[in-house]
Parts: sequence; C-alpha cells; structure tokens
Amino acid sequence: MDHFEYRDGQLYAENVKLADLARQVGTPCYVYSRATLERHWHAFDSAFSEMRHLVCYAVKSNANLGVLNLLARLGSGFDIVSVGELERVILAGGDPEKTIYSGVAKKEHEIARALEVGIRCINIESTAELERVNKVATRLNCVAPVSVRVNPDVDAKTHPYIATGLNQAKFGIQFDEALETYQLIQSLQHVSSEGIACHIGSQITEIGPFVDALEKVLTLLDDLSTQGIQIHELDLGGGLGIRYQDEQPPSPAEYAAAICKILKRHKWEVQINIEPGRAISGNAGILLSNVEYLKHNREKNFAIVDAGMNTLLRPALYQAWHEILPLQTAETRPAALYDVVGPICETGDVLGSDRKLAIAADDLIAIRSAGAYSAVMSSNYNTLGRAAEVIVDDDQWIVTRQHETINDMVAGESLLPD
Ligand SMILES: *Cc1c(COP(=O)(O)O)cnc(C)c1O
Repeated sequence: MDHFEYRDGQLYAENVKLADLARQVGTPCYVYSRATLERHWHAFDSAFSEMRHLVCYAVKSNANLGVLNLLARLGSGFDIVSVGELERVILAGGDPEKTIYSGVAKKEHEIARALEVGIRCINIESTAELERVNKVATRLNCVAPVSVRVNPDVDAKTHPYIATGLNQAKFGIQFDEALETYQLIQSLQHVSSEGIACHIGSQITEIGPFVDALEKVLTLLDDLSTQGIQIHELDLGGGLGIRYQDEQPPSPAEYAAAICKILKRHKWEVQINIEPGRAISGNAGILLSNVEYLKHNREKNFAIVDAGMNTLLRPALYQAWHEILPLQTAETRPAALYDVVGPICETGDVLGSDRKLAIAADDLIAIRSAGAYSAVMSSNYNTLGRAAEVIVDDDQWIVTRQHETINDMVAGESLLPD
C-alpha cells in the first residue's frame, strides 16, 4: 500500500497535490512519500518481531540523504555496497554498527574506512577479498567481523540481470567451497566469522526461491557447527519483489512467516538480518514529468516528455514496465495510444510503449514505482542535469536534492593548459 491516489481527478502524494508540487519544483522530479517509506520499513520490522532481527535497508535502491535520514530515525540498519554509500549512511545519521557491507570489488581504502567506523559486518565474496580484509585489519590492528556470502545456486526466477544466486553469477562463494572458506577464516588472525550471508536476486515474486536458499544455508550452519565454528547471524539478503503491473509478490508478513517457520524447526539461536531495498523504496516514489510535445508519425503517436532513460533507466535496461498516469484526469482530451519517450538521442529511450493516455502538450504525467533503482541509476547523458528529489510529508514537502546545474555537471572537469 502507498499514499499516492487521485482525489477529484487530481493525483496526490499524501496531502500534497502533485500538480502544484511539479509546477513549483520543476520537472522532471522524483517524489517520495515519507508515510509510505515508514510504513514499508515497519512492515518488515514487525513481520520479524518474533525473532532477534535487524532490517538493513539496501542503500543502493535509493540513496537520497533524506530517505536514509528518515529510515535512520526509525532505527534502521543499512546494507551498503561501497564506501560512498557508507559515507551517505553516516551523513544521514545512520549507525555503522548496524551497517552491513556487501559487494564484490571492495578496495583496500574502502575496507579500511569500514573497519575504522566500526562496521557491523563485511560480507566476503571471494577468498582473495577475505585475504585483503585480513591484511587491512592486520595493518589497523583490529579483528574484522565477516560473513561469507554464499551462492546457494537457486533460481530466483527473475530477470537475468538481477538474478545473483546462480553458479554462473559473479556474486558470492560457491556453496561447496563455503566450508573451506570458514576454515580459512579460522586460520587467519584478523578476521572472525559472524554469520552466513546470502542474497539470491531482486524483484522475486515467489516464496519458493527464498525457502530453497534458506534450507541450503541451514545445512551449512549445521556443518559449521559440527566443525565447532560458531555462527551468530544469518543475513538473508533482500530481493522481495513489488507490484509494477500485475505481479502478486508475497507481502513482508508472508515472507517473514515462511522464514520463521523454517527457522523454528532448527535449534539455532541466530539473529536474522534482512536487506530489503526495492520493497521499501520502490512503490514509495514516483517520477513527475512534463509532456513537451505530442508527435504523430504514420505508425506511432509519441508523447515526448522531459524524463527519459537518463532519469529512469529501468525500461531501457531491463525492459521494465512502469505505470504512467496523467497528474489530472481530463475527460475533454481525446485518448490515444502513445509511446512515452524521453529527450535522449537513443531509439531505446522509451519509458512506456502503447500506453492509452488522454493528454495534451504541457500536461504533467507521473511514472509510478520510481522510488527504487531510479534516481540512483540516473546519469548526465546528453548533459542533462539529474532531476530533483522531493520528500512529501503529509501536506508539506522538502526538496532533498536540488536539480543539478551545469556547474554541478562540469565540476572537476578542465580545459587543456595553454
Ligand atoms: C541489491 C541488494 C539488496 C537489495 O535488493 P532488493 O531487491 O532491492 O531488495 C540486498 N542485498 C544485497 C547484497 C544486494 O546486492
């Protein structure tokens, strides 16, 4: 459930009329609903209330400081994949001791910074990385808390670009090599095993793959225990899908119930960490855009809008479908089928094909489900500034990122010397 709805033919975010916001802030702009973000975070937190747990919001889905700040105020943990995301968490008031560091390519300086600020756990994705973490921790004279991210080789049944738990993926350590990796941890002086981590992909709309992955992880937990290796935490990753069109993903409560049921059959007293990103932020955001021109070719009608693949890459990258709505419904306008396209000089710059819309030039539209993997994937392609980001809170709003200016875009660039 979210807080975007029509009232008297006008689209609202909470108690803000979006047409007013769009005219004042300018388009394109992303709008996030505070009440929706909080609601989604609490849905996960309360779903796991019967076990020791920590909800570690996946920063990469939406890294806006305002969004991170409101989640930090709820007591959220965070899942990060770079030191840049770590600095964002710290700037937003998040707690490094509730922050888990994932990602396949951690550099030495990134590992050092994470250890200096007291990261909760570094998730290890290869033995080479484990050795690097041990080396950095030796230099800093500390012991690095680590989990092994295992690859359980289960099919998440999602888009191939966002399936991460198969043997052919670059992520994690092969399941049959996990035990050896824990033995290596035991033999190293400056790393200690905290837990087992697993993240099998994103936009997963069935319970089955999560259950299969957990069952496999629990067999590893048994094997480790037999070897006398103590595990305190299970990090089950993120990946719960959302509704973009007609998907019927399990709710956080159904997901948690399936996991808790399996865990209760085991005697293990472990903490559960989960890393939802999209399921918290995805449907808490929309993208507002202005229709610049309508264009009618012999075969197609185009709505040329001021948001494009630079603002919302998902349709071009994953053939993703996003709902497109007018900000005000107008019966007086003739409806037609449009390809909604952006300003970028690429034929693939399409936000939606064959959409029935009753719109005219200079109308405003909203592209839904743009709270996750949207602003974070935006670019300056064609030297277009990144769009503003706004958080709506009841009948108020705050611009938590300004529109990027030409000076922002060329900062750090220079001419050649004379
Ligand atoms: C991307 C990612 C997540 C979040 O995935 P969602 O599908 O947005 O929930 C969580 N954990 C890790 C390790 C990730 O790479």
